[in-house]
Amino acid sequence: MPGVETDRTVEMVLRTVADHCDDLVALTQSLLRFPSVNRPPNGDERAVQEFLAHSLRASGLSPELFCLDDVMGLEAHPAYHAGGSVEIPRDYRDRPNLSAVWRGQGGGRSLIITGHVDVVPPGDLEQWQHDPWGGEIADNRIYGRGAIDDKGGIAAALVATSCLRELGIPLRGDLILQTFVDEEYGGGNGALAHVIRGPRADAVLMLEPTDLVICPATYGCQSIHIAVHGRGAHPIERWKGVDAIGLAFDVYNAVLRLEEQRCERVRRLPFFRDLPVSLPLTVRRFEARTIGGGSVPDLCELQVWTTVLHDETQESLLAQLQGHFGQELAGSVWLREHPPTIRPIGRFLEGTWLPPEHDLVRAAQSAHRQAFGTEPRLSVGTSGDGFIYANYGHMPLLEMGPGPVHRAHAPDEYVTVNELVAAAQLIALVAMEWCGIA
Ligand SMILES: [Zn+2]
Repeated sequence: MPGVETDRTVEMVLRTVADHCDDLVALTQSLLRFPSVNRPPNGDERAVQEFLAHSLRASGLSPELFCLDDVMGLEAHPAYHAGGSVEIPRDYRDRPNLSAVWRGQGGGRSLIITGHVDVVPPGDLEQWQHDPWGGEIADNRIYGRGAIDDKGGIAAALVATSCLRELGIPLRGDLILQTFVDEEYGGGNGALAHVIRGPRADAVLMLEPTDLVICPATYGCQSIHIAVHGRGAHPIERWKGVDAIGLAFDVYNAVLRLEEQRCERVRRLPFFRDLPVSLPLTVRRFEARTIGGGSVPDLCELQVWTTVLHDETQESLLAQLQGHFGQELAGSVWLREHPPTIRPIGRFLEGTWLPPEHDLVRAAQSAHRQAFGTEPRLSVGTSGDGFIYANYGHMPLLEMGPGPVHRAHAPDEYVTVNELVAAAQLIALVAMEWCGIA
């Protein structure tokens, strides 16, 4: 998009978005005041979706709200997962998805901009200084559950679109705004409903918090339950037992060595190489109990959460762990004969991947340079429902949204006014770069 004329258009867009800062803040506050909590099997997304539909209608678009249960073939789809990562079959009554198309002039590439409106509960209210549903502003920060995950990004996308429309900048390709339900807790089905129902597009921008870093790859993830079996015995005769806690320490250390090996494998991959830990894995539970009445613990359970790459499957991951244990624990006669049992918990979320030279990555990099005058960083985005669009909808996908991921799901989640404006500016320029200007 070179040329003096284009420079002038870019400047005008950046300025117009900045001039709409108050609208952007007000819209974000409004979205945060809807407690659109995902509480499996239900969720409270309807009100915020209806509000968004109303806002889009006011800006001249014709949004459609639709119920997941009305999407033909949803439940039969291979990516449909009834229970998500919490294994509780979902109920989609009163949880509509939303889609709105801004038709392009033709001859350009289409773009879906999408994010989820469900949020995790605020958790312990004692830890919040601000009302999680108040949309309060203090020191240029707008507080509330979902501020960056994903409501701030959604507000930025809406304002970016309305600024382009207000300026009369005619895009060539269609710009499609979508918001969906049930992302938290490994839902996936809200995104899947969009993919099955359409419209399709030539690319997808997923509004997860990346601090506006362009993420052509996203992590997948899986929780795994590991049971380490010992043999119970009365403590007065403890030599007759086999202490499962002691064994579990070996298993724990073996799991940590697996993380090292997995990281080594991806160390040279683009996007991954600057990360302190490229494929994070965490043991997030370690618990012993006795089952047979004895007092020497005969069972110790570990819960592991691990990120996965785009080319891994649940089967390959579990096979890798099994093989790893076979090697690492071979020194223990007991563990060789009584290997830990491994079971996945909940759904396997897949990773996604775009090569660094992909046109979509280039378009986002170019938009970043124009918006901020700096060289963009490429990284790996958090796991979410991007894989549904990328791997099942077969659309190239980038993850990019305002705010760093560590604020998500935490007390006093917030997005700054600057982050919102920068996000809206960047989104507007990505749409211009990708869809083209007529
Ligand atoms: Zn999210």
